[in-house]
Amino acid sequence: MKSMPTPVKSVLIVGGGTAGWLTAAFLARTLGAGADDNSVRITLVESKEIGIIGVGEGTFPSIRGTLAAIGIDEARFIRECHATFKQGIKFTDWVRPPGAPGNDHYFHPFSLPSQRPGGPELLPYWLQGAAAPGVGFAAAATMQKRVADAAHGPKRYNDADFMGPLNYAYHFDAGKFAALLSTHAQSLGVRHVLATVERVELDQQGAIGAVHTREAGVLTADLYIDCTGFRAALIGDALGTPFRNINDTLFVDRALAMQVPYETADTPIPSYTIATAHEAGWTWDIGLHQRRGIGYVYSSRHTDDTRAEQVLRQYIGPASDGLNPRQLKLNVGYREQHWVKNCVAVGLSGGFLEPLESSGIGLIETAAYLVSYLFPHNGDLAPVAKVYNEMMKARYERIVDFVKLHYCLTQRKDNAFWTDNTDPASIPESLRDKLSMWRTRAPHRMDFVVDLEMYPPSSWQYVLYGMEYPTAQYANARTLPRVDEARKEFQMIEQMSHRALADLPTHRALVEHFLQRG
Ligand code: FAD
Repeated sequence: MKSMPTPVKSVLIVGGGTAGWLTAAFLARTLGAGADDNSVRITLVESKEIGIIGVGEGTFPSIRGTLAAIGIDEARFIRECHATFKQGIKFTDWVRPPGAPGNDHYFHPFSLPSQRPGGPELLPYWLQGAAAPGVGFAAAATMQKRVADAAHGPKRYNDADFMGPLNYAYHFDAGKFAALLSTHAQSLGVRHVLATVERVELDQQGAIGAVHTREAGVLTADLYIDCTGFRAALIGDALGTPFRNINDTLFVDRALAMQVPYETADTPIPSYTIATAHEAGWTWDIGLHQRRGIGYVYSSRHTDDTRAEQVLRQYIGPASDGLNPRQLKLNVGYREQHWVKNCVAVGLSGGFLEPLESSGIGLIETAAYLVSYLFPHNGDLAPVAKVYNEMMKARYERIVDFVKLHYCLTQRKDNAFWTDNTDPASIPESLRDKLSMWRTRAPHRMDFVVDLEMYPPSSWQYVLYGMEYPTAQYANARTLPRVDEARKEFQMIEQMSHRALADLPTHRALVEHFLQRG
C-alpha cells in the first residue's frame, strides 16, 4: 500500500541572490514563516565565500506588484536600491547598421496602446496609415515614448505607491536589492544561515535527503529550493536534471560588465534601458542614480574577448579609462524540469536566456508566485511538480520566441552574427508560424495564451513593428470602418503628450524626490 505523504512544514532555500531572497520573502508572506502551527518554517542558507552574480539591474513592470505583495514600499525600495524608473527599452541599430539611411532606433514602451472604452484597437489602423506619416507604432499609440525622450518620469510626485499615469518598472543596483530583500525576508520570519553547502545527500527515492554544510552541519527540510545560481548545486549537480542549451537560437554567451560614473551630478538619467546592437551582440546601458551600469553581451562564436572589450570601451568612450570590466560566461538555456521530486530550481539554477527584455527577474517572480500558490501543503508533490513544470516550460519557450524576434527580423548583413540570426534554422518553429500569420494581419490578443506569457501582446507589437515587419494587411474599408475615430485618437495621443510633459516631473527630479522623502 502506498504510504501517506508527509505534510510540507519546512522549506530550505539554498542561495541568497535575488532568486533566493525574493522567493524567501514571497513564501514568508504567503505561508507564514513559522508564525503559528499551520505556517511553514523557511530557512535560507547562503555561502559567505561565493558571491551573488551582482548583475540584473533591469526589470519588467511586474516587479511593482511583487514588491507590493511582499510588503516593501516604493520610497524605501528606491532609496535603498539606488533605483530609477524604467519606462521601456530603446533599441538602437537593431534594424540596420550604424550610419545606414532610415531610423536608427525604436522604442518598446511599457504602457499599452491607448484604447478608449468601446474605441477601435489602434494597430490595424496604424498599419493602414491612419497615424501621422513616419510615426512609428510605439510613438503613435502611446504618449510614453515622447515623455521618455524628453527625460520626464512616468508618475507625479503625489501619485500613490507603485501607481502612475504611465506604466513602469525600475533599474536598480542588484547587490543592494538582494540586501534589502534579505533584511525584509528576515523581518518576515525567514531564518538565515551563513554556510557553504559542500555535499548534497540523496535519500533512497533519489530525492534530496539533506545538505551538508561546512559551517552549520547538516540541514534538512521537506522541500528544497535551489537558488545557487549557475552552479545549480541541487537540481543540476545532485539530481542531474538535464539542461536544454538553446545557443543555436540565442547566440550570446558572454558578458563584460562595467560600472561607470556620471560626468556631472546633474546629468539627465534616461528612464529606459538603451540596448545598442553591435557587430556580435549588444550593449545594455542602464542609468542608476549614482552611476551607469553598462555591459556588452556577445557571442563567443562570432567574436573574441579582446575585440569585445574594444567594442565596449568604444561605446563608453573616455569614461571607461581606468575601469576594468567583469567577464561572465552565460549558460544559455533552461532545465527541462524545474521541479524534480522535492527540489525546485528558481533563478539561474533553473535557466537563463539572456538579459534582453529582463526576463531573469521576471521568471523569478513567476516562480516565487507559483511555488507559493501551488504549495503542496499535504506533501503530495508529484501533481504540483507536473503543473509547475508545464507552466515554466511554456513560459521559457514563449520568452525564447520573444527574444529571438528582436534578432531574426534584422536587415543587418554587416556581420555573421546578424546573418546567422536570420537563418530560418535558428528560429523556433513556433515563432516562424507566428511570423507567417502576421504577414497578412496584425498580431492580436488571441494569438497568445496570456497566462503563459511574460510579455503582453502589445510588447510583441512594439518590437515587431519597431523592427519594421512588413505586414500587408488583408483588410479593407469594410473590415476597418472606424478610420476617422482612429485618426482622432492618434491626434489626441499627441496632444495629450504635450500636457503630460507639463504634468510629469523630470526623471532625475522624480528620483530625487523619493530619495528626500525618507
Ligand atoms: P546568484 O546571484 O548567482 O546567487 C547565487 C547564490 O547561491 C549566492 O548567494 C551564493 O552564495 C549561493 N551559493 C552558490 N553555491 C552555494 C553553495 N554551495 N552553498 C551555499 N550557497 C551557495 N535579469 C533581469 O531580470 N534583468 C537584467 O537586466 C539582467 N541582466 C543580466 C545580465 C547578465 C550579464 C546576467 C548574467 C544576468 C542578468 N540577469 C538579468 C539575470 C539576473 O542577474 C539573475 O536572474 C538574478 O540575479 C538571480 O540570480 P540568482 O539569485 O539565481 O543567482
